[in-house]
Amino acid sequence: MRRFILLLAVLIATLARPDAQTPPKLLVVLVVDQLRADYLTRFDRHWHAGFRTLLDKGLVFDNARYPYLNTVTCAGHSTIGTGALPHTHGMVSNQWWLRDEHRLTGCTADASTPDISYGRPVTLGNSAKNLMVPTLADELRMQKPGARVVAVSLKARSAIGLAGHGGDAIVWFDDLAGSFATSRAFAPAPVPAVKKFIDANPYEKDLGQEWTLSGPPNSYLTRDAGVGERPPAGWNGLFPHPIKGRGGIDAQFFELWQSTPLADAYLTRMAAALVDSFALGQRGTTDFLGISFSTLDDVGHNFGPDSREIEEVLRQLDVTLGTLIQGLDSRVGRANYVLALSADHGVAPIATSPTGGRIAIDDVRERIEETSATELGALAKGKYVDAMNYTDVYFMPGVFDRLRANPKALSEVERAIKEIPGVAAVLRADQLSASSDPASKSAALSYMTGRNGDLIVLPKENWYFSGRNATFATTHGTNHEYDTHVPLILFGGGITASHVATPVTPADIAPTLGRLAGVQVSKAEGHALSQAVR
Ligand SMILES: [Zn+2]
Repeated sequence: MRRFILLLAVLIATLARPDAQTPPKLLVVLVVDQLRADYLTRFDRHWHAGFRTLLDKGLVFDNARYPYLNTVTCAGHSTIGTGALPHTHGMVSNQWWLRDEHRLTGCTADASTPDISYGRPVTLGNSAKNLMVPTLADELRMQKPGARVVAVSLKARSAIGLAGHGGDAIVWFDDLAGSFATSRAFAPAPVPAVKKFIDANPYEKDLGQEWTLSGPPNSYLTRDAGVGERPPAGWNGLFPHPIKGRGGIDAQFFELWQSTPLADAYLTRMAAALVDSFALGQRGTTDFLGISFSTLDDVGHNFGPDSREIEEVLRQLDVTLGTLIQGLDSRVGRANYVLALSADHGVAPIATSPTGGRIAIDDVRERIEETSATELGALAKGKYVDAMNYTDVYFMPGVFDRLRANPKALSEVERAIKEIPGVAAVLRADQLSASSDPASKSAALSYMTGRNGDLIVLPKENWYFSGRNATFATTHGTNHEYDTHVPLILFGGGITASHVATPVTPADIAPTLGRLAGVQVSKAEGHALSQAVR
């Protein structure tokens, strides 16, 4: 009896709590690839639709930063998806070196789960097997049986980083084939709802269109003729940009189409169609929808953050996001969904002398090779450095141990690297976790033994690594402010509009949405944001 009364009291207290939140019916995670935090304020004059709604009616965290070094797409999406950081979720970079096999692997590459095409034949395989912890969406499927998970992007690592190890429709664009795809990790055959949309809406019909400005030239903050732009083949630095192949539907067309706002709009139409097909947010449970917009990243790499192309992508994305929010409002109801918007990383300004520049990765490799030969002895054949992957140096087996046993040799190698213009520091992998220096701490959060290298080379601000013949204008992937500072906005049912200055990280998104939905995200290192969960 006493137990019954206690239970009754708890029940009454729960029901009477004025702010008792009913779980949202739909969790929406939007990632805009390479959306740097300052873009939202810098281009504020252009926001009339989606960004306007999110900034005015959302809970806006003005100080969201990635705490780790390797700010790249796979790491960022997996961090948003899981609430954990790369040293835990394992997606430390877009690719890493397999020491035993002496080859690079993509973060989602998995030959055991061949891709399934929605068009032309595909040859790759992808899965979340390298993602060491469950995503929020995985937890949702486990803890709320019947919950549906849909994730769409132009990139496999983005769709998979958000969705995780399963789901109802996980869709990406295969660059080589020029077709949308999924893989056997997610479905035994093409998902009928996705196939229906793609068959009825072939993106190939955009062939021959032009990407034009949506406003008069004097309405832009940026110049069209930027300095240091590297337009992709088929385009120059000035609008309009024709969406055409060398000879019709070919690799050039696939690349150019992805680099236009038409691709963002297409992805949004696909997502809306899948919300309908799967009745996401319209049933008695909580579903998950992830959309990652990849176009800004393509355009940013080619034209840089100060280009009119970036301004125009965002101007049109504002309209696209407005359409998306309207669609969710009418299909699900604003009170019934919670939406999070963030980015996987920012981007560096185009490097210009004397304030910045490029570090040729081959220069670093050759400098290490030369110094190692001097210190440890010239090799009759073979080499000391097995591979370089952005900040990471992978020595051949046994070499790093020999260097560690020979402090003079190791310090000569470190000194030789540090002499290269643009190098800020060289970190030893075996000393990362013990260090309290901020750069080492950020590198440690990006580090997983077995995936990362032996030395970590940090570029100075406004410097980045590049191949000798690289065709990109700029990139990201460091712990500098322009790479780490991203937007983080929550919006929808139960979320009160406000701007918050508290420092947060994108790893806080999954635990926050999980808390709202009543789902444990047990491996998260981020925290449920108190401003949202009350
Ligand atoms: Zn990128």
